[in-house]
Amino acid sequence: MSATTTIIDNNVFTQSELNNILNISGVAIWEYDLPSRELKINDNWFNLLGYSRGELPESISTFFALVHPEDLPAIENATYQFLTNPKVEILQFQLRMKTKKGYWLWLRNRSSVQTDIQGNPEKWSGSVMDISKLKESENQVKKKNQHLNSVVNSLSDIIYEIDENYTFKNCWIPESNPYCDKVRSFKGQKIQDVFNPTIFDHFKKLVDKTIHTGKPQSFNYYSPKSQKHFLTRTTLITNSEIGQNHVMMVVQDISSFQKTREKLEQKESNLNAMIQNTSDVFWAIDKQEKIIIHNQAFFNLYKGISGMEPGIGKVLDDGFLLDETAKRWRLIHSRSLRGKDTIFSKHVIFLSGEVRLYEFHINPFRNKDNEIIGSVVTGRDIDDIYTAKKQAEKVARLKSKFVSTISHEIRTPLNAILGTCHQLERNNLQENLVDDLNILQLASDNLLSLINDVLDFTKLESGKVEVKPTVFNLKHFLLAFNQFTLNLAAKKGLTLVYEIDSNLPEFVQADKTKIHQILTNLLSNAIKYTETGTIILKINQNQSSKSKSHITVTVTDTGIGIPKKDLDGIFDSFTQSSTSYQLLKGGTGLGLSITKNLVELLKGKIGVESKLNYGSTFQVQLPLEIAQQKNIADKSNDNSSSLKNMYILVAEDNEINAKIITRLLGQWEAKYDLATNGQKAIDAAAKKKYDLILMDIQMPVKNGFEASDGIRKDANKFNENTPIIALTAQPDFSFDPSYREDLFDGYILKPFHPDKLKMSIIDFL
Ligand code: ADP
Repeated sequence: MSATTTIIDNNVFTQSELNNILNISGVAIWEYDLPSRELKINDNWFNLLGYSRGELPESISTFFALVHPEDLPAIENATYQFLTNPKVEILQFQLRMKTKKGYWLWLRNRSSVQTDIQGNPEKWSGSVMDISKLKESENQVKKKNQHLNSVVNSLSDIIYEIDENYTFKNCWIPESNPYCDKVRSFKGQKIQDVFNPTIFDHFKKLVDKTIHTGKPQSFNYYSPKSQKHFLTRTTLITNSEIGQNHVMMVVQDISSFQKTREKLEQKESNLNAMIQNTSDVFWAIDKQEKIIIHNQAFFNLYKGISGMEPGIGKVLDDGFLLDETAKRWRLIHSRSLRGKDTIFSKHVIFLSGEVRLYEFHINPFRNKDNEIIGSVVTGRDIDDIYTAKKQAEKVARLKSKFVSTISHEIRTPLNAILGTCHQLERNNLQENLVDDLNILQLASDNLLSLINDVLDFTKLESGKVEVKPTVFNLKHFLLAFNQFTLNLAAKKGLTLVYEIDSNLPEFVQADKTKIHQILTNLLSNAIKYTETGTIILKINQNQSSKSKSHITVTVTDTGIGIPKKDLDGIFDSFTQSSTSYQLLKGGTGLGLSITKNLVELLKGKIGVESKLNYGSTFQVQLPLEIAQQKNIADKSNDNSSSLKNMYILVAEDNEINAKIITRLLGQWEAKYDLATNGQKAIDAAAKKKYDLILMDIQMPVKNGFEASDGIRKDANKFNENTPIIALTAQPDFSFDPSYREDLFDGYILKPFHPDKLKMSIIDFL
C-alpha cells in the first residue's frame, strides 16, 4: 500500500477521488509537521467554523485560541502527554470551538502521530467532526433521565426494567430509600441472583404472563422480613429496534394503605355488627331503588309477608312487599331522593299477628360531593313509649284538671274571706279583734299567693302559657303599678324608691300582664324578705333602636340576703334559701321559678346578686317592641286613678261576692248597677251605656259568655264597645272552649285583692 492510495475491496481510489469524497463528507482534516511546525488544513475545517480559507491565520495557535476556555486546560494537557509520552495510539477528545458567528460548536477530534525511522514523532494528523447534534440528543437523554429520577424520587416506588431473560436492564429507586444502592446494583444481574426463590418465582410468573398476554399484570405480596405489603404492577414495552420485549415493573409499598384498609374494614364490620344487632329496623336503597343494605330487624319485619324474602339487590317492587306497601315506600323514597326528610308512624302487623306502632325516619344520604345517592330508613318500635306517653298525658291532664278544680273551689270562699276582712278593716273594730283580723288577713293573703303560684306553675309546666302583646303606655303602667307596691311596702314601714329612666319609650307593645307579674313577684319577695331599710326599683333603657328598646329592671333590697351556696339553684322550682326557711317566711319556692319562666318566655334574662344580711339585687333584662301608633288611647292615665262617677255594671250571682264588689265600688265612689244573673245583665246593658262591666262567668239563666255575647249584639248598641272584664276562678280562663277574644277585654282572677281589683279596673278603663 502506497502513501497516496487506499484500497477498499480491492478497488483503488485515486488521490483526486479521495479528495472529492472527503470534501463531500464534510470531515475536516489537518496535519502538523512537528519538525517544521507547518500546518495543513483542508477547507472543511474552515467551513465547520463558518470561515473561508484566508480569514484565519493557519497556525496551531489559531486552533488553541478558538477552544472554549473550560475545555482548553484538559486539551493542552492531553496533547502534551500524547506528544511526549504517548500511551495510546489515537488521541480523541471532545471540545467546544467558537464559530465565526460567535456560538460554541461541539467537535470531536481524533489524531495520531507518525514517527520517522528512528521512532521520533514526525507528523501529527487528525480529523475533526461536528458532533453538536449528538451532544444535543445526549443532553436530552440526560435531561429525561434527570426528570425520570426526580419523578422516581418524588414517589416511593421502585421501577425495574427486565428483559426476557429475567435480567434487570434498569433500576430506578428514590435516593431516600435505604436500599437505594443495593437496588441500583441489580442492573445487569438476573432476578434469581438477587431475590429469594419465592419472590423470584412470583416475579418470573409475572414477567412471563406479561410477555405472554401483552397485558398489564399486578400482584400483591407481603414480605415477612420487612413486614411490609407490596403491590407489583407490570406493563410490556416492545423495543422494535432491537426486537426485544422488556417488562416495566413498578413495586409499590402499600403497607400504610393496607393498614388504613384493614382499619376501614374493621370499622365497616363494627358498623355492620351494630346495624345488624340493633332492634331498630334499618335499610337503605340506592337511586335505582335497589336495597343496598338492611339488617335482621328489617328482614324479620318483611319476610314472608308476601311469600317472598327481602334481600340486598332487590328493588322495592320485587314482590317481597304487598303491592300497596311497595307503592307507599316508593313514594316516600322518591321524596327522600329529592332531598326531603320524612317522619311518620304506622302500625305494623307481624306474621305472628302482633300489631305494634313504629316510627319511621326516612332521610336522603349523600356522597362527599353532597349529591344524593340514596335513601335510608330507620324504624323504631314506639308502641311502649307511645302508650306510656299517652298515659302520662292523661295523668297530666287529670292533674291539671284536679288543680284547677280544687283551686276554683278554694278561690270562691277565699274571695269571701278576703273581701270580708277588707270590710272589717274599715269598721272601727275593738282593739283585741284588730290583731285577730290581721292574722286572718295574713293567712288568707298567704293562701291566695300560694294558690296563685301553684296555678301559674301548673300552667307554665303544661306549656299552655302564650305571650299576648298589647300596646300600652309604659310609664303610666309603671306608675299605676307603683301604687300597689307602695301600699305593700308602707304596711311594713319600708321605703320604696322608684327610679325610672326618662328615656324609656312612651308606647310599647308587650305582654303587660306577664311584665306585671314579674315585677310583682320580685317586689313582693323584696318586701317579704326585708325587715328594715329601702327597696329600690330601677328601670333603665340600655339600648334602643327604631323598633326595639332593651330595658333593665333592677330590684334591690336591704333584706336578709341569700347565702352564696343557695344562689345557684334559687331559680329552681320548690327551692328556698336556708335563711328564709329558718325565718319561717312561708312560701312555696315557686315564685322565682315562675318569674324566670316568664322572663324567658318574653325572651329576656334574669340574674341575682346577693350578700347575706346585706340584701339582694335581682336584675331582669327585657326586649320590648316600640309601638308606632302613639295616638292609641292610653287607658291607664293618671287621672283615672279615681273611679269617681264611673258607671259600672256588676253581673254577679253570688250574694257575698256581689256584696263585697259593690261595697268596694261604693268606697271608690263609683256608681254601679247589680245584675244577679246573665239575662238581667243583658237587660240592664240594653238600657244604658256603662263605663265598664264586671262579668261573673258562672251564673244561672245565662252564664258570663252568653251574657257578654248578648250585650255585644244588643240592638241599642249602648255597650257594644264597653270594656267587659270577666270575673273568674278559672286560672286558664282564656283556654275555655267558650272564650272569645271579642267578648272580653280581660279577666280578673277570683279571689282578688281589693287594691288589685281597683288597679285592674283603672287599667281597663
Ligand atoms: P318563696 O318566696 O315562695 O319561697 P320564691 O321562688 O319566690 O319562693 O323564692 C325562692 C327563695 O329565694 C325564697 O324562699 C328565698 O329564700 C329566696 N329569696 C327570693 N327573693 C329574695 C330576696 N329578695 N331576699 C332574700 N331571699 C330571697
